[in-house]
Amino acid sequence: MKKHAIIPIFIPHKGCPNDCVFCNQKKITAKQKPFEIGEIEKRIEEYLPTLQNRELEVIEVAFFGGSFTGIPMEEQREYLSIAKRYKDAGEIHKIHLSTRPDYINKEILDLLKEFTVDVIELGVQSFDPEVLCLSNRGHTREIVYSACKMIQDYGFELGIQLMIGLPGDSYEKCMESVAETIKIGPSLARLYPTVILKDTELFERFQKGTFKPFSSEEMLRTTKDMYRKLRQNNITILRVGLKSTEIISESGDTVAGTYHPAFRQLVEGELAKEELERQLFLWLKNQNEAENLLKNEKMGKRKKTVVTFLCEGTSFSNMIGNCRCNKYYFEEKYPQLSFRFKTDSSLEEGKYFLKNL
Ligand code: SF4
Repeated sequence: MKKHAIIPIFIPHKGCPNDCVFCNQKKITAKQKPFEIGEIEKRIEEYLPTLQNRELEVIEVAFFGGSFTGIPMEEQREYLSIAKRYKDAGEIHKIHLSTRPDYINKEILDLLKEFTVDVIELGVQSFDPEVLCLSNRGHTREIVYSACKMIQDYGFELGIQLMIGLPGDSYEKCMESVAETIKIGPSLARLYPTVILKDTELFERFQKGTFKPFSSEEMLRTTKDMYRKLRQNNITILRVGLKSTEIISESGDTVAGTYHPAFRQLVEGELAKEELERQLFLWLKNQNEAENLLKNEKMGKRKKTVVTFLCEGTSFSNMIGNCRCNKYYFEEKYPQLSFRFKTDSSLEEGKYFLKNL
């Protein structure tokens, strides 16, 4: 597996003219001290020594927060020239940034090419026209298609960020957004369950009762199915869910919506559980046989059969699930079986296998 590190640089988008309903950037940036250009170099210099001796194949400087290509061109030049200096010196390998689909045009892409930017992530959020409109994104989905095409035609690596559970959203619409994403074929994706932050329009709608967030179960199921589709199509999923530092506002924190500090593990653990259960059912041949085993066990006619689940070491926590929920799930649902959870270093990361001993 490619070892990869990102040096994140948060560029607040002071002049963002948009008003996305979920965004608290305006309120946050109004309270922040102005961003100093010297902070970029300082940040890179602080990070680089921590990345030594870690056998990293790729180190990226990534400009996040707001919409990079929406800031004045001269500022973009200043920021990018610092990152390029480190890239030219071989101290970093890639320059990465995130922006909005409607802040992509030929002039901007020419500038990004000049500064050897490698990866452009677009905050697409949804491909559904109603969701885009109700979320006040300020652009249509046609803009998304044309921005993605331009980015790919220029030869940049494309990333697509999707949000789950925005106003007007549903499981079906989220799966449609994933299907559109797959058709476009980015190399990277991020999945963000909608979190209701204070100081946002979404918070006001939530208080008035005009916005109802997805339940935790709905969010987990939707995210899991989106994640599976993206992975099946070889799209690398850089992130699932916000970091705790991204949701804590100056005055408070999350209000509602799905936030879990280990949401990615919940999703990956759920997928591991489904895969192991699929193999378990194949092994038991069919549900009837599983039920027979259960009956026999209850009647004391049969010794417990041992089933071993295997994975490579770094996937072990997903295999047993967050707070061991997968382990408890199997033990409770199949009391006729005795489960062992083991690692095998010869296996590929993220693959799970059943072996009965
Ligand atoms: S999400 Fe981005 S584009 Fe929308 S208001 Fe916030 S900073 Fe502006």
